Amino acid sequence: MNFMGDDGERIARAVSILSSASNVVAFTGAGISTPSGIPDFRSPDSGMWEKADPFRVASITGFRRDPSAFFEWIRPLARLSMNAKPNVAHYALLKLEQLGKLKSIITQNIDTLHTKAGSNPVHELHGQISSATCITCYKKFPASDLIRQFVETGHIPRCDCERQSILKPNVILFGEQLPFETLQAAKKAVRACDVLFVIGSSLEVAPASEIPLLAKRNGAKVIIINLHATDFDGMADVVLKGDAADLVPNIVKQVETALHASVQ
Ligand code: NAD
Repeated sequence: MNFMGDDGERIARAVSILSSASNVVAFTGAGISTPSGIPDFRSPDSGMWEKADPFRVASITGFRRDPSAFFEWIRPLARLSMNAKPNVAHYALLKLEQLGKLKSIITQNIDTLHTKAGSNPVHELHGQISSATCITCYKKFPASDLIRQFVETGHIPRCDCERQSILKPNVILFGEQLPFETLQAAKKAVRACDVLFVIGSSLEVAPASEIPLLAKRNGAKVIIINLHATDFDGMADVVLKGDAADLVPNIVKQVETALHASVQ
């Protein structure tokens, strides 16, 4: 795709910022995975909150009151996440890592697509769908087989403990704390970065949404890619409106070209 005029200028500015950076951190949301076929939560028409009440199905109080509503809601997301493949935007971030620019990824996604693409390290602020914990004895299970079974049969996964309690997938629900060590590692990465590359996040869910502010406060430049405006656009150094699957590979390709040109 060709980007002309203002878009072309903004892309050139993003390329220049990334090319001269030494420590880039990517912060990704559901929008990087919509091109892999997993709907986000908030996009008009297609977002998952169009069809479900988040506080009934995806809060920890809702889960305790009626776990079956949570499992019914998460079943299609689990199916899509299990079968989805990383897309060109995920692979472009891997390329940026291989170019020595990207040092880590912080993601709100639970779909494990950055890890499937080969990126490392990935700080998963909201957990991931591929492991689960017993709500009574807290035994942890690598849940890919259990989740696969649940997706296929609809039977809620249970622990092998005396109570045979429900296994809760290790995703962070509304009202739950973020995993402490992961959040600390993410904040440390942000404090050390010189560029925060924000891709496909509505930046509406705290405390993850505070990450761009932390980056800015520590003197980093912020680049935002999103189909729509976010509340943080005013403080970003570059805002690019468009599809992550077009913009991210395009920008990374140009960074690669700029780096090769500078060593010749
Ligand atoms: P969100 O649904 O709040 O917002 C997604 C954002 O991405 C929107 O602002 C939208 O405009 C933008 N977007 C959608 N498609 C895009 C594309 N192709 N290119 C560029 N931008 C695009 O998502 P969020 O901010 O990540 O929300 C946080 C919550 O959603 C998290 O708790 C996360 O766990 C959960 N979630 C995760 C997944 C997943 O793992 N794939 C999917 C849905 C929701």
